[in-house]
Amino acid sequence: MIIAGMIKSSLIDYPGHVSCVLFVPGCNFNCFYCHNRSLLDSSYTIIDPRVVEDFLKKRAGLLDGAVITGGEPTLHHDLIPYLEKIKALGYKIKLDTNGSNPEVIKQVLQSGLCDYFAVDYKAPAAKYKEICGGNADAGPVLETINILLGSNADFEVRTTVIPQLGEDDLMQMAKELPRLPRYMLNRYRRPEKYRPSDAKKVSQKPYTDDRLKELARLISDIQPNTVA
Ligand code: SF4
Repeated sequence: MIIAGMIKSSLIDYPGHVSCVLFVPGCNFNCFYCHNRSLLDSSYTIIDPRVVEDFLKKRAGLLDGAVITGGEPTLHHDLIPYLEKIKALGYKIKLDTNGSNPEVIKQVLQSGLCDYFAVDYKAPAAKYKEICGGNADAGPVLETINILLGSNADFEVRTTVIPQLGEDDLMQMAKELPRLPRYMLNRYRRPEKYRPSDAKKVSQKPYTDDRLKELARLISDIQPNTVA
């Protein structure tokens, strides 16, 4: 598995756990507000696998978990063997995904290696391509979410509330999703790196925390487990 970024200790990436975060390169989406653009445009630096392995061995038992994020981890053919290695060291594993590969998520579920999943639902289905790039499609994402819902897996669905999503969009998304165990509305932050053609889009003013909470309250009529 190629690792192109690492946070050695995080209190916020795996709910209730102290974890390290491992970033894999490459993504089949191209969201204009992506915070990891260097993982998409090949300007990343690969971390020597021995460095990552040594780190994971040294911190085994000290950290609770490891978060595999990206980029899009399900694009990597060696995802499951990599999860096996991490699991063998005693880590709990959280997998972040854009949800575009339901078949891979099925395989991960069958392997029993992953303890927690976070799936992004980024836009109303009709706006997926506009917001996440040409190949993006909400259909497989909803399929992934339904697969997780039908399993015993712990998971959450997340939406970054970009300024381009209005109240109607968020209500529409809440209706498109099945009833979720946990739905996170995350605040938008302007990415440091973006395509020059997206300069205007990324600079739109984010919602305030109060407005985000208000939106969460409205959505709660449809998705009672919404948190902002
Ligand atoms: S799915 Fe995630 S990693 Fe991929 S482009 Fe969108 S924000 Fe970036």
